[in-house]
Amino acid sequence: MTLHGLMQDEPLLISSLIRHAAEQHGDREVVARTCEGPVHHSSWAEVERRGSRLAEALRALGVGEGDRVATLAWNTHRHLECFYGVSGIGAVLHTVNPRLFEEQIEYIVRHAEDRVLVFDLEFLPLVEKLATKCPDVQHFVLLAEGKDIPADATLANLHAYEDLLTAQTGQFVWPDFDERAASSLCYTSGTTGNPKGVLYSHRSTVLHALGANQPGVFGLKPTDCVMGMAPLYHANGWAMPYVLPLAGAKYVLPGSQIEPAACQELIEDERVTAAFAVPTVWTMMLGYLAQTGKKLETLERTFIGGTAVSQALRDAYRDDHGVEVVHLWGMTETSPLGTIGTPTARVAELPKEARDEQLLKQGRIPFGVKMKIVGGDGEEVKRDGEDFGAMWVKGPWIASGYFKGEGGDVLDPDGWFPTGDVGTFDEFGYMKITDRTKDVIKSGGEWISSIDLENLASAHPKVQLAAAVAAYHPKWDERPILVVVPVPGETVAKEDVLGTLEGKIAKWWMPDDVVVLDELPMTATGKIRKATLREQLWNHLVESAS
Ligand code: AMP
Repeated sequence: MTLHGLMQDEPLLISSLIRHAAEQHGDREVVARTCEGPVHHSSWAEVERRGSRLAEALRALGVGEGDRVATLAWNTHRHLECFYGVSGIGAVLHTVNPRLFEEQIEYIVRHAEDRVLVFDLEFLPLVEKLATKCPDVQHFVLLAEGKDIPADATLANLHAYEDLLTAQTGQFVWPDFDERAASSLCYTSGTTGNPKGVLYSHRSTVLHALGANQPGVFGLKPTDCVMGMAPLYHANGWAMPYVLPLAGAKYVLPGSQIEPAACQELIEDERVTAAFAVPTVWTMMLGYLAQTGKKLETLERTFIGGTAVSQALRDAYRDDHGVEVVHLWGMTETSPLGTIGTPTARVAELPKEARDEQLLKQGRIPFGVKMKIVGGDGEEVKRDGEDFGAMWVKGPWIASGYFKGEGGDVLDPDGWFPTGDVGTFDEFGYMKITDRTKDVIKSGGEWISSIDLENLASAHPKVQLAAAVAAYHPKWDERPILVVVPVPGETVAKEDVLGTLEGKIAKWWMPDDVVVLDELPMTATGKIRKATLREQLWNHLVESAS
């Protein structure tokens, strides 16, 4: 029989993070640009106070444990409060990506069976349309004051967020419950088919916050001031809402504006020391800095992930702006932290060139994540930086499946999760991504489904075959291009093909170019060899621009 330890069994709950921050770092600031533009100043104590009022209000609306509460919102102080008000009562915070195409949003809200929909004012027209199609949604909460509700709003059960908060007693006490209870839900369109929901738990979230902030990983301190530029709907805003109260750091949120001018101003005004965003955001920022001669005086470190960081980007920040770039890899399914490119003692001692090359890799595995890379022969690859294979991960903050069993059993018999990425390990234990087994295109850090584009393009009567592949783009990293083979004897024009997509996809999904070919490279089983096409056309946009 096991001899159990005699230590207390306190559940790991998300509410414990904000309670800690309110008690120990209550006056540390939380600063957010509002959707209207002006900057709002608050504190961890204030986030806890208002979050608990939201919790009380949601209970009064009948929201119970396990109920889903959706948000369609930007990086604001009110959205941050939802991370505590919703999960803190055992309900599930479902952050919806407002940049998805309307039909995908409808699919996601219906699939999640959201009971409450919380949204920024600019999404009111969208929400009014959704209301007619999503019967499970019983209450709508506008992230504003009562006076901001437009007179012609048609939604039944529409509440103003500020009015809901004011109406509460303020006597709420955060409840205890099972740490394995679901806490939040993010849908990912990373693979083929419909978006799938990653359902986090309180336990996974708290362990991830602790793990991600280990020394040598994020290592954020109370003296840090951190700007979270990753949208709060992308893998819980890269866990910033959980990591920063734990660290007692100052939190700066850019609102709806991640344009360089607005962000640079906020970084300077708030004296930001560390920031998190995808490469596209940092590329745009570099252009702005070069154009205006402005600086990022206080910024010490940028954490970059979502797509690979280029050497040019890393070098420009380090050499021209004195900002260290830390490369990380992760997925919605990994909460999101998977690996991080910080130096070990051995790597720190390498000659400069070798060290520089090493730290451009996606990085090492922190405590809490296990990773194996399996080659085509079913064996784990040699750790020589050359041998590559499929990456599998395991750990307490890695998904074990998707919401409602979508996608079936995803784990292998030993409990490993397939990332869909292909990579190498080297002698220093650093992982480098060499390819993706998935064919989706990642523009500005967000997925575009190649299959959706192909299906629509193939619907054109003169198109026989269509393939959508990523091409390199200096600003967005990747943009989609369509490769089509016309029906024999026919000719197709670019405008013709793009015309069939118009109105059926989000504007930013529109391919940047259409390439017409006589034939496509095919596999033995009759599938289009997309990897070959991608390779051939990777520089297509750059070449045609010049
Ligand atoms: P998402 O779930 O949207 O965060 O997408 C996760 C996917 O983004 C991963 O499976 C990778 O294919 C890709 N990804 C994330 N970080 C990196 C990185 N640092 N380098 C290359 N690809 C990355």
